[in-house]
Amino acid sequence: MLETVEKNESNVRGYVRLFPTVFEKAQGSELWDSSGNRFIDFFCGAGTLNYGHNNPRVKQALLSYIQADGIQHSLDTATTAKISFLESLEQNILAPRGMDHRVQFTGPTGTNAVEAALKLAKLVKQRSHVIAFTNAYHGHSLGALALTGNSYYHSEYFGSRNNVSHLPFDGYHSGLNSADLLEQMLEDSSSGFPIPAAIILETVQGEGGLNVASPEWLHQVQEICRRRSILLIVDDIQVGNGRTGAFFSFEHADISPDMICLSKSIGGGLPMSCVLVKPEYDQWKPGQHTGTFRGNNLAFVAAAALLEYWQDEKLAQRIKRLASVVSERLDRMHATRPDLILETRGRGMIQGLRLASGFQARKVIDTCFENGLLLEASGPQDEVLKVMPALTIDEEILHEGLDVLQQAIESLAQYPQVGFAAINESNCPIASSPGAASV
Ligand code: PLP
Repeated sequence: MLETVEKNESNVRGYVRLFPTVFEKAQGSELWDSSGNRFIDFFCGAGTLNYGHNNPRVKQALLSYIQADGIQHSLDTATTAKISFLESLEQNILAPRGMDHRVQFTGPTGTNAVEAALKLAKLVKQRSHVIAFTNAYHGHSLGALALTGNSYYHSEYFGSRNNVSHLPFDGYHSGLNSADLLEQMLEDSSSGFPIPAAIILETVQGEGGLNVASPEWLHQVQEICRRRSILLIVDDIQVGNGRTGAFFSFEHADISPDMICLSKSIGGGLPMSCVLVKPEYDQWKPGQHTGTFRGNNLAFVAAAALLEYWQDEKLAQRIKRLASVVSERLDRMHATRPDLILETRGRGMIQGLRLASGFQARKVIDTCFENGLLLEASGPQDEVLKVMPALTIDEEILHEGLDVLQQAIESLAQYPQVGFAAINESNCPIASSPGAASV
C-alpha cells in the first residue's frame, strides 16, 4: 500500500519515511496499522494529541454535534460552537489565571498564528524588526520561517531572513546569560540592533532539541520587554496545552506574555489555531487579517470539551506524576549508559535523551518502530530523542514504551559503527539532513 504514497505523494513527505507503515486506527496512546501491528505513541502527532487519539470526550461531543447538523464552516461568523469554545476558554483557562486576553482566530496551522502575532506586533509598535532565538522553531510560512533557526529549512532562493535577529537562547553558550546580552545590545545604539516590535520565544524548544529556558531568564526577558516597550510573544504551539505541566508552559515563571500562540493540541487533533492578545494590543481594523478556515467548528467543539479537563487539578496532578515516571526512567537510562546517552533534557511530558549524533538517534527510532513504539528526534542534528506521550497515557503503557526505548538504546552497543568515534553522518538520511523528519 505504501507504493501508492511513494508513487503519488510529493518527495517532501517526511514522517512516512520515519514510520514506514499504513496506519489505520488509534485509541488513546495506541495505534494499529493496516496489518494489525500495534504501536505505542510517544510521538503524539508532534504535540497535537496531548489528550490521546479519539479522546472519548471529543468523540462524544463531535458525534452529537454532527448528528444535530451543527455548522461546520463559518469563516468568522458567530456560531454556537465558537461561543461554547470562547466560554470554555474563559471559564477554564483565562479567568482562573487572571488573564483577559482576547482571542484572534487565524488559519488552522501553527504557522498561521505566528504570522498573525508578528504582523499585529509590527502594527502596534510600528517597527518592523523582531528578535528570535537560536534553535527556534516557529513554522514554515515565510515570516515564521525567518524566525526558525535550522538551516535545513532555509535557502537563499526562499528569500532572506528579513527583519529578524537571532540571539542565543538560554543556556546556548555556557557561562553566558543571553538576557544580559540582549539588554546590552538594546542599550547600545551602536550594536547594530534595531529596537524590535517583539521578542518571540518558546519556553521549551520542542524542535530545537528540548532546550528549557529557566524561569529567571524568562522573567528577565519580560522585564527587558516591559522597560523598552517591546511586545513579548510566547509560542506555546507545541509546549502549551498542558505539555509541561500547567496549561501554559510559562506559568511557573510567573510571566504575562502580551501575545500567546496556540495550536496543535488545542483542537484535540483537529486543525485550529489562535493568538491570545492583551486587549490593549488588539488593534486590528475589522477584517484586516483574515483567512477562510478561521472557523473550524468541529475543532471548536473538540476544544471546548477538552478544556474541561482543566476545571480542576486532576489533569495537572496526573501530568506531574507521569512526568516524574519519565524523568526517573530517563535518568536511570542515562546513569546506566553514560557511554551512549550524553544528557537528559526537557520538562514535564516533553523530555528526552541527547545522543552523540542524529545517526545514533535514528538507529534507536528505527529499532523502536520495529518493536512497536513511535517516537521522533529533534535538535540541530536530530540527535535528541523526544519522549512525548499523551498526558492521558496509562501508566502501564508508559512503562511498556519506556522499556522498548531502553532496549533500543541498549541495542546501539551492538553496532560498532555507531560508537562515538566512528559515526559516519553522511550515511544517515536524517543526520545528514537535520530536521528532515520534523513537522
Ligand atoms: N511553533 C512551534 C513551537 C512548533 O512546534 C510548530 C510546529 O511544530 C509550529 C510553530 C508550526 O506549526 P504548524 O506546523 O502547524 O504550522
